Amino acid sequence: MAPIIAVKDVCKIYNRHAPDEMIALDNINLDIAAGDVVALTGPSGSGKTTLLSLLGCMGRPTSGSIRLHERHISRLPERFLAKIRRETFGFVFQHYNLLRDVSVTENVMLPLYPTAMRVKTMKNLAHEVLERFGIGHMADKKVKLLSGGEQQRVAIARALVTQPDIIIADEPTAHLDNELAHDLLAIFRQLSDDGKTLIIATHDPFVSRSGLIKRTIELRFGRVVGDVFP
Ligand code: ADP
Ligand code: MG
Repeated sequence: MAPIIAVKDVCKIYNRHAPDEMIALDNINLDIAAGDVVALTGPSGSGKTTLLSLLGCMGRPTSGSIRLHERHISRLPERFLAKIRRETFGFVFQHYNLLRDVSVTENVMLPLYPTAMRVKTMKNLAHEVLERFGIGHMADKKVKLLSGGEQQRVAIARALVTQPDIIIADEPTAHLDNELAHDLLAIFRQLSDDGKTLIIATHDPFVSRSGLIKRTIELRFGRVVGDVFP
């Protein structure tokens, strides 16, 4: 089967031709299959976040190409990229970026606004996903009244309300205690069981040893130095 994402000869250079030029990704070649659960590892500064941003259509490579579902995305204009990003990816970051003064439901509905769906439909979808993550009863509460763990679930619900095929997570457990990290992995496992593709940048052994990961790609100085299927 064709890969869901195919990365070919990709380089990313920041501040090109300037004294502080930085080759963040140096000739990356990768195929990611639908249903893969990938851990992207490597020391700080090795290029994990940069690679995630290119895979997730949040930036463009300096050279090389990326295909998503067989389609070249590296050169598409921003408005097309934004649409693809919205329809294909769910992003889970260390910082939740929730709107603290509005309700849980409104936060989760946010990614649906550009779809021109009816508000009632958006609300229903938001409630469904909140129920799924065990926080349906908090729907009308303001986010600032929730605990850290509850806020994390809201952020994940928001990332998943568009029913993305690919979930991209950047060091998702970095600020979580063990119990929350455990809950997050349970959610990831559920998504994997549903056939979703997960790409998780992490150097947390708790994640790599959880049994969830099907493939580990290791970066050093912007290059792939390991690609194992344990
Ligand atoms: P990681 O996520 O593995 O820590 P990053 O992808 O964030 O690595 O960074 C890779 C390299 O690129 C680092 O040296 C970092 O300082 C540099 N870098 C990242 N983002 C930028 C940027 N916007 N401008 C300039 N340099 C950057
Ligand atoms: Mg990073």
